Amino acid sequence: MSQYEAVIGLEVHVQIKTDSKMFCSCANRFGGEPNTRVCPVCMGYPGVLPVPNKTAIMRTVAAGLLTNCEIAKFSKFDRKSYFYPDMPKNYQISQYDLPFCLRGNVHIEGEGFSGEDMGSRDIGITRIHLEEDVAKLTHLPGSSGVDYNRAGIPLMEIVSEPDMRTPNEAYAYLNKLKQIMQYAGISDCDMEKGQMRCDVNISVRKVGEEKFGTKIEIKNLNSFRAAHRSLEYEIWRQPQVLDAGGTLNQETRGWNDDRGETYLMRTKESDHDYRYFPDPDLMPVTLEEEDIEKIRATLPELPDAMRQRFVKDYALTEYDAKVLTQEKAIADYFETGVQLVNNPKTLANWIISELLRELSGASISIEECQVSGKQLADMIKLIENNTISGKIAKDVFAEMFKTGKDAPVIVKEKGLEQVTDTGAIEGLVDQAIANNHPQVQQYKDGNHKVIQFFVGQVMKLSKGKANPQMVVKMLKGKLDA
Ligand code: ADP
Ligand code: ZN
Ligand code: MG
Repeated sequence: MSQYEAVIGLEVHVQIKTDSKMFCSCANRFGGEPNTRVCPVCMGYPGVLPVPNKTAIMRTVAAGLLTNCEIAKFSKFDRKSYFYPDMPKNYQISQYDLPFCLRGNVHIEGEGFSGEDMGSRDIGITRIHLEEDVAKLTHLPGSSGVDYNRAGIPLMEIVSEPDMRTPNEAYAYLNKLKQIMQYAGISDCDMEKGQMRCDVNISVRKVGEEKFGTKIEIKNLNSFRAAHRSLEYEIWRQPQVLDAGGTLNQETRGWNDDRGETYLMRTKESDHDYRYFPDPDLMPVTLEEEDIEKIRATLPELPDAMRQRFVKDYALTEYDAKVLTQEKAIADYFETGVQLVNNPKTLANWIISELLRELSGASISIEECQVSGKQLADMIKLIENNTISGKIAKDVFAEMFKTGKDAPVIVKEKGLEQVTDTGAIEGLVDQAIANNHPQVQQYKDGNHKVIQFFVGQVMKLSKGKANPQMVVKMLKGKLDA
């Protein structure tokens, strides 16, 4: 068997977050009763005119700037003609030869990458164009339903160069795009709501060969995991066909998630089948340098930059900074709290190990969490000023997470203040020593590790409330005496 290398390019659709649809004033929202957010424009009635959504155009330009694209000063909308019930006009308004954004790139990092520079690559962006989403079809046994609520929602198509070589690179690229869109508020990229969808293109070639192989497009992938799995499947399937002496035809395949395999959908139609031509109802869009600069001024700090800043400003590890900047909402949460605590690392630990675990256990996002960044920081301050121990804090936090109450309130209600009274601690230490003669002997025989046993005993006696540092100090004093 020959050695093959995969060549991968992605076409990613991202719905833009706006109040209204791309060319009419219907609301841009997910769900609801089918066909309730429609009007003569998005239903393609004759005699009505589309009006472009300025915010959608600005956000497309923002997406282009964030992916290092050149922004076109002159752009236009074209009609992509086809006949299918998901578009009542029998054409989709899209962009053909003059899209808003061209020739960009996205930096990715991760594991399982190809090439010399393992773990870090730039993926070229061919173009980003703006179009309108189409209706959602639901196929039932014996009939099909169509919901035009989605038709006309602003949709970006982000086309990559065939620059990826492994499924992991494609996965990292998708993740990075999602992160960028979320950071900039361009889209929530909720894949379950269809706000981000991707088609993957993949071919294989013999290692060392220049020429690309025949590309296969896999459509309707509704998770990054499905994209990854379908690529792995094709990387297994395509070489088999070639090694058996067969040929691959350019075709579109579907992905069956349950069976874990791709299947033939159709042989691919080419561009001219769509009869693209400029939409006569829409003026070309011209952008001045100052329009672009205005958009540039609104761009947020991106995750990579934020990650580096977290390492530098807060002395966090690369790992911690990476986890915290994975989602903008988490990064913002950290930055709100970090102003209030002494040690940023403590807050980072609490977010990474406790908060994220509780969130995933409850299957909610950080936006839905009842505990704010300030509230968590206030709780950490209670540890820092010795009001509660780190151990008690875990129970306090669990209660905060459940009820949204402030830490000081819970501590007071449940009487969880740390015991720092010397007399009280001494009583407990004496009790622990008196009850455990064999361990006292072990200590005296030189096994000083047994001190941990005594600390445990005292903490138990105090129901976790004794100040651990004081306990250790007092135990040592008494046992060494
Ligand atoms: P089409 O005309 O079929 O739409 P394009 O050239 O526009 O094809 O490319 C569509 C996507 O397929 C792009 O993301 C591109 O990077 C990718 N692509 C193009 N050729 C190949 C290939 N030989 N193997 C893998 N991906 C490819
Ligand atoms: Zn409408
Ligand atoms: Mg194309």
